[in-house]
Amino acid sequence: MKIEKPRGTRDFLPDDIEKRREIERIMRKIAESYGYREVLTPTFEHLDLFTIKSGESIIEEIYAFKDKSGRDLALRPELTAPVMRLYVNECMGIPKPIRFYYFANCFRYERPQKGRYREFWQFGVELIGSSSYLADVEVIELAYRIMDELKLSFEMHVGHVGLLRHVLRDLSEDRANKIMRLIDKRDLDALDRYLDGDLRDKIHSLVDMVGKSDVLEDAKKIIPNFNFDHLERVCRALDDLEVDYKVNLGIARGLEYYTGVVFEAYAEGLGAQNQICGGGSYRLSHLFGGDDVPATGFALGFDRIAEICDLDSKKPVRVVVVSFRGLEVEALKIADAIRSKAVVVTDVMERSVKKQLSYANDISADYAVIVGEKELKEGKIAVKDLKTKEQRITSLEEFLETLG
Ligand code: ATP
Ligand code: MG
Repeated sequence: MKIEKPRGTRDFLPDDIEKRREIERIMRKIAESYGYREVLTPTFEHLDLFTIKSGESIIEEIYAFKDKSGRDLALRPELTAPVMRLYVNECMGIPKPIRFYYFANCFRYERPQKGRYREFWQFGVELIGSSSYLADVEVIELAYRIMDELKLSFEMHVGHVGLLRHVLRDLSEDRANKIMRLIDKRDLDALDRYLDGDLRDKIHSLVDMVGKSDVLEDAKKIIPNFNFDHLERVCRALDDLEVDYKVNLGIARGLEYYTGVVFEAYAEGLGAQNQICGGGSYRLSHLFGGDDVPATGFALGFDRIAEICDLDSKKPVRVVVVSFRGLEVEALKIADAIRSKAVVVTDVMERSVKKQLSYANDISADYAVIVGEKELKEGKIAVKDLKTKEQRITSLEEFLETLG
């Protein structure tokens, strides 16, 4: 019986993994350069962790199950709630602010399509302990610098959920959340079935407000009672730091825990699944039995980024050490010596020299080092450059020097 991988999951071959590792390396390097340190939480958590804020309806979207003792568990659909649980369990006493980053797989029971999987990876940060505009500026800048370093074509959009929440303040929390989710999905038809009159008009104009900072002036006219200071300070700082962004007052974010500045990045070349980053400031800790600490963070959609990212990563030099019969172990010793400078493979199938050379070509190696009786006696090796097909006799030391 041939067994396929589960729906919505993927296998990754070495070329994919090498590219993904390179992207991951760059993300880590930049996050670490801002003082973020990595944390890792369990792959599964108590289901409550994810339903406490978002309600039971989220169960439809997550892998929830009972273990053999009847505990309600879930595979993590995201990492902000787990990281805040970790904060409450382990780190409430440590000096603030706390800077954590994570890179891990997440699971969502969604309809699979291009850029949308049931197992996918997120790289993200959480900056815990500050409600200052400077915290928002830092995480937005960091997300921007990472995507910029990866040479992605993207647009960063910055908004404030407080605005939409302010407009919806007279509705019940349930109803307001429902409407926020419809705005997040840009389901304007459904939205119109929930809203009418003044409320409907205000929401529509906010959702359309995307542009430069003049958008804020328009918004002030529509929602005069809202305090725009925080958002304006964030925008001014981003301008000064030359972070390119648009103000977008229609960003609602699907997850209910956001309280202030929110941001999303959209990339070209991904079709409908073009959101590659989502983040904002939120409060979660108090829901998990901790203090009511402010936090700000983002999550990058690693798989979507890997799909559009075009890195020219340096491939290591590859050498195949080819041995004549009887000299296999001598060849292994030479291979060991070359490994400090290159990737080296040796024959493990006891094949002929001709077949070993042909395999070296098959795997696109750069050099074949041929270990033969005559050369070995003189302390030499034969090196064939597989690109130019030139072969020469040289010493191991000299060959190692040419590898740099
Ligand atoms: P979307 O709007 O595309 O459904 P989201 O708003 O639910 O995504 P977040 O919870 O903000 O996503 O997660 C952060 C990032 O993780 C997203 O911007 C996206 O790039 C990525 N992501 C979310 N769900 C998936 C998925 N099922 N497959 C691949 N990437 C995903
Ligand atoms: Mg979204």
